[in-house]
Amino acid sequence: MSAAAVNGADGDSILSLMNVESAYGPIKAIRGVSLKVRRGEIVTVLGSNGAGKSTILKTISGILDPNRGTILYKGGDITALDPAVIVQRGVSQVPEGREVFPLLSVRDNLLMGAYTRQDRDAVARDIEVAYGYFPILRERATQDAGLLSGGQQQMLAISRALMAAPQLILLDEPSLGLSPKLTREIFEIVVRINRERGTTMLLVEQNANMALNVADQGYVLENGRIVMEDSCAALREKEDIKEFYLGVKDAGVRGERRWKKKKNWR
Ligand code: ATP
Repeated sequence: MSAAAVNGADGDSILSLMNVESAYGPIKAIRGVSLKVRRGEIVTVLGSNGAGKSTILKTISGILDPNRGTILYKGGDITALDPAVIVQRGVSQVPEGREVFPLLSVRDNLLMGAYTRQDRDAVARDIEVAYGYFPILRERATQDAGLLSGGQQQMLAISRALMAAPQLILLDEPSLGLSPKLTREIFEIVVRINRERGTTMLLVEQNANMALNVADQGYVLENGRIVMEDSCAALREKEDIKEFYLGVKDAGVRGERRWKKKKNWR
């Protein structure tokens, strides 16, 4: 049960996208995406390589300006605002591939996450909170972040996002390149952060199994369009999801072959 369910949230959206279209020059990456994230929920967007998942997150966080559509956060229009302003309002992104600052220490990476904040005492307390979730980061506090393992860098990237004191975290493929065991450990902490702090999460993942287990609500994105949305419990039972996202042994987790099969989303 997510923080939304625990808190008895009654369906108020913290984030809404309405008909959002974004492109890289001539390449249309998302084509009229509409979705809602309720306060305290974990919402996942599933999709294959290149479906446009990262583009959705980059458009929300202001890294990419959409060509069309509206993004509302806590009822206010944040479409195409400056990324720093969006962070200040409480939206923090954990980028794909972690992107820690390799030549800065672990602690300085965490401080970079708090660069928009003036409340130094609270920042110091939040560093302790991050170390509480990921004790290895305390042990490595003075080491260069570039020396951390992939899993530890992912922990640092999540902690750095936490340092902005966000109400909404945008998580881009936290499982990328990690072993199943580390992926489980990281997702356990993501769920704890959601439960303990009430932080809403929008998670994009290729690891559908993990995403559908931790999230409340899910969207399926294909070629830049939402083709299905439902509760994760319901999505897990759908034949197309089972076939194309879960347990297709012979095509591999990221296999392209299954994407060439005909799909009939329902
Ligand atoms: P992945 O899991 O591979 O990151 P994704 O679902 O996150 O996939 P996006 O990264 O959002 O997909 O990419 C959507 C489309 O936009 C793809 O066709 C991709 O090739 C294209 N694209 C992404 N980034 C750029 C860029 N910087 N310049 C040009 N095209 C891009």
